[in-house]
Amino acid sequence: MNDLPNLSLTKMDQMSLFHPVSSIHDVQQNGPQIYTSAQGVEVTRDTGQTLLDMGAGLWCVNVGYGRTELVQAGAEAMQQLSFQHFFGGASAEPTIRLADRLLGLFRDTVSGSDMARVFFGNSGSDANDTAVKLVTYYNNLRGKPAKKKIISRKGSYHGLTLASGSLTGINGYHTAFDLPMKGILHTSCPHYFAFGQDGESEAAFTDRLITEVEDMIASEGADTVAAFIAEPIMGTGGVLLPPEGYFAKLQEVLDRHDILLIADEVITGFGRTGQWFGCGTYGLRPDIVSLAKGLTSAYFPMSASIISNRMWEVFASASEKMGAVMHGFTYSGHPVGAAIALANLEVIETEGMVENSAKLGPVLLDALRDATKGNAHVGDVRGAGLMAGVEFAGFPAGSAPHKIVAKHATAAGVLTRALPFMPVTSFSPPLCVTEAEISEAANRYAKALAAATPELE
Ligand code: PLP
Repeated sequence: MNDLPNLSLTKMDQMSLFHPVSSIHDVQQNGPQIYTSAQGVEVTRDTGQTLLDMGAGLWCVNVGYGRTELVQAGAEAMQQLSFQHFFGGASAEPTIRLADRLLGLFRDTVSGSDMARVFFGNSGSDANDTAVKLVTYYNNLRGKPAKKKIISRKGSYHGLTLASGSLTGINGYHTAFDLPMKGILHTSCPHYFAFGQDGESEAAFTDRLITEVEDMIASEGADTVAAFIAEPIMGTGGVLLPPEGYFAKLQEVLDRHDILLIADEVITGFGRTGQWFGCGTYGLRPDIVSLAKGLTSAYFPMSASIISNRMWEVFASASEKMGAVMHGFTYSGHPVGAAIALANLEVIETEGMVENSAKLGPVLLDALRDATKGNAHVGDVRGAGLMAGVEFAGFPAGSAPHKIVAKHATAAGVLTRALPFMPVTSFSPPLCVTEAEISEAANRYAKALAAATPELE
């Protein structure tokens, strides 16, 4: 047993914890950053410093920290039925109600959607693994066993399990893990600001990318391509908004080749873009929607996969022959998670947080534009709803100016995220954020930028 009672927490952390997505060297050298409490949009460290969390954790604490409604819903659900599995047709009320609520929300807010059922899991990564498996299952059941490949995009982030990590289109996550696995393809990143060519209009950029997708389908053979996965707005890739006309043109190509669209709404779901779902914001018509994060505002690890009618009909009609669908997890549909998710949706709805995201999105962008105005190192400020990015430009490939600024920002009392694909700092505050908090965060960021500028020269 590792019994380390007399060590500081820092030392104990360094000697016992394997941090996800962290540099072992950094943690050993500089120690962890230990957080002790949080309320609203503010988090507190063991040093006593309070910071405005402009990342909402990892884009996930949509209703903000410390909401007693969610805490109570969880406590009551735990008292009533602390666990129920859903294997073999077992079920429980909160989960039934949550599935019904999600289908209703999606139908009401995403026009042209035709969704049939909800499958629950534990994380965004496993929701995307579920998507990969269900796409495979679907094509096997309908007699198209060669139709298995999935097209993803460079710069995308879909998780870090074997399948979802393969879908992720950022090389850093693949290195030394032998990813991506076979059958996952990556097409170009739809980021006009960085990858548009000289003199190329945004519409022409879109057309070039769509032609590339068509060419990829043609060279692989449409009968081997099962699905295309896309985040409505690419988050970890750099808050990359789709270029003009992108999804309408993509959808047309996919429809023509009988290729399913998987919408990864793990970040964009539940109000982040100013509508309930990014599919509504950008007119996507997916066959599978992956949800997590904002589903419970991260008060409980839970994911959901919403499945279209055309997929469901294939599953249902093969059911007698196939027997049970042999996919699922111990915690699929966890009743405590479902009760928390229901309370979370209630808070989002009754407090108008989706509307707040739509209303304060432009306020956030203006504040960031003001904070970065005249700084020669900042190339672009963009966003939708309460999801914004500041992109640095003019640096040699591989340098990380945004990481330097993010360090200064932490010291100045504002948490932002320095992203791994483009030199972008992201801002995705809890959806309960106020105008005053945005303005304070932007002021702190401006100070951090000023403090960092000598290091950027
Ligand atoms: N999909 C997207 C768009 C994400 O941003 C993330 C996480 O950041 C995931 C999937 C993976 O979610 P998780 O970390 O819960 O596995």
